[in-house]
Amino acid sequence: MIDIGMAIGSVKSAIDIAKLLKDSADSLDKAEVKLQLAELIGSLADAKMQIAEIQEALIESDKEKKELENKLSQKENLFFDRPYYLIKQDDNNDGPFCQICYDKDNKLIRLNNDPFISGQWDCPVCKQEFQDKNYDYEKAHKRAEDTLQAYRNAFP
Ligand SMILES: [Zn+2]
Repeated sequence: MIDIGMAIGSVKSAIDIAKLLKDSADSLDKAEVKLQLAELIGSLADAKMQIAEIQEALIESDKEKKELENKLSQKENLFFDRPYYLIKQDDNNDGPFCQICYDKDNKLIRLNNDPFISGQWDCPVCKQEFQDKNYDYEKAHKRAEDTLQAYRNAFP
């Protein structure tokens, strides 16, 4: 937790020293002026460091805020379209995402499409396979048979 009070305290000390120097410039000897100036520089350096820390914390906080806003917007636009989740977008929906991983761990895991069988998806995390409405049963069945045949040919 960043303490803004510390930075304000450093600036206040610097102002107090500067006032002292201004009001009593004639009565202070050279050594005293030098000492006060050194303290003034020290207070300003502290303030600069503390303000830099505050700036860093603000940047971090902005980043967290942005991430939360993104998550919230994702959640608001997420919908279930059996057998997976999609995120509603203006032009094209984003996804699909694994239903099991989202329901269990609240994680949006992008599903991989089988390049040979349309409508066939699998989750790289939980390894679950999904078939959507575009799933081509004939093609999948044929591919399984071809694989089996290739296996039989290789090992007669
Ligand atoms: Zn999954």
